[in-house]
Amino acid sequence: TRVLLTGGSGFIAAHVLELLLKRGHSVVTTVRSQSKADKIKQAHSDATKDSLDFFIVEDVAKEGAFDEVVQLKPSFEAVIHTASPFHFNVTDVQKQLLDPAIIGTTGILQSVKKYAPSVKRMVITSSFASILDPFAGARPDHTYSEKDWNPITQEQALENPGNGYRGSKTFAEKAGWEFLEKEHPNFTLATICPPLVLGPIVHYLNSLDALNTSNTRLRDYINGTLKNSSDKEMPGPYIWVDVRDVALAHVNAMERDDAQNKRFFTTAGFFSNSEIVQILRKNFPEYRDQLPPESWKGGYRPTPHYGIDNSRCEKILGIQWTTLEQSVVDTVKSLQALRSSL
Ligand code: NDP
Repeated sequence: TRVLLTGGSGFIAAHVLELLLKRGHSVVTTVRSQSKADKIKQAHSDATKDSLDFFIVEDVAKEGAFDEVVQLKPSFEAVIHTASPFHFNVTDVQKQLLDPAIIGTTGILQSVKKYAPSVKRMVITSSFASILDPFAGARPDHTYSEKDWNPITQEQALENPGNGYRGSKTFAEKAGWEFLEKEHPNFTLATICPPLVLGPIVHYLNSLDALNTSNTRLRDYINGTLKNSSDKEMPGPYIWVDVRDVALAHVNAMERDDAQNKRFFTTAGFFSNSEIVQILRKNFPEYRDQLPPESWKGGYRPTPHYGIDNSRCEKILGIQWTTLEQSVVDTVKSLQALRSSL
């Protein structure tokens, strides 16, 4: 399949790209600069121009940002849209979080409908942030599934960067489904809704300070930053997933007929920071002095808390979840390899 992948320089997208190439798809990925394209090319030095090519889209929030790339030849048959800001380092929630997420999503949908009638399938990276009600607390009486929507309002989203990010994912995904309903495009849609994504780094990083947001707690445990964490309950979300399972969800959602027009709540299950620390202590004795001490009582999930139903991903996408131990070990090994190469 000829695939357009947006945001190929990102943590999750780099795994999606790897899997697409492994399965023999032909990919054009958008990145924000030529230097990012060059780094990805270096990582896939055996890929031909037919199997992997690049197009620069500096800012997905710009009007018509995707108009040109969707018209490249040979024509695209599928689009995977991952590009969206995921960090909390913002001073203007509207401009830095909401606009790129929402306009980025509506923008690619519009460009494809207008200029790329050959596209039959669209997969969008959404988030558990668009499922979870962030104002309902631990919510022990509820089981989250694809049926749930975050009730966050525009006003709440503008209150702080955390709400801003959750709002950005909720409004962007909603805009996607609304587009499908109103515009009746030529393509079907699937959305992937992961919670905290952990896993090895395969994208280019020029420094460990530039690490993607969801892996930072692993970096900060092994470098001692979180050694003196207080004895508090951990903040949510209490669920996680491995990045390789998230990549598989994207590619299988693109490939499989029965995955069309569905949301996918991609989560491996519950975790806690205390479990992460135990896994680190067991597998990496060299970090003993950087980790919170064995007497540490913190990092637990509140109990009781909400339940989860991830059965649709298992049934339709065929995902068998990577374990937390495997994921943490592989991530730390990749951080170690990165540190020695930087
Ligand atoms: P990264 O920060 O590694 O990736 C984000 C990607 O989006 C980068 O390629 C980035 O480009 C690109 N991007 C951001 N803003 C813009 C913009 N205005 N114009 C063009 N490109 C832009 O994070 P992840 O890989 O984790 O995130 C990928 C997707 O997954 C996002 O949609 C995120 O919301 C979603 N997600 C992630 C979760 C996680 O825990 N990691 C959980 C749930 C959802 P550049 O690097 O050049 O800035």
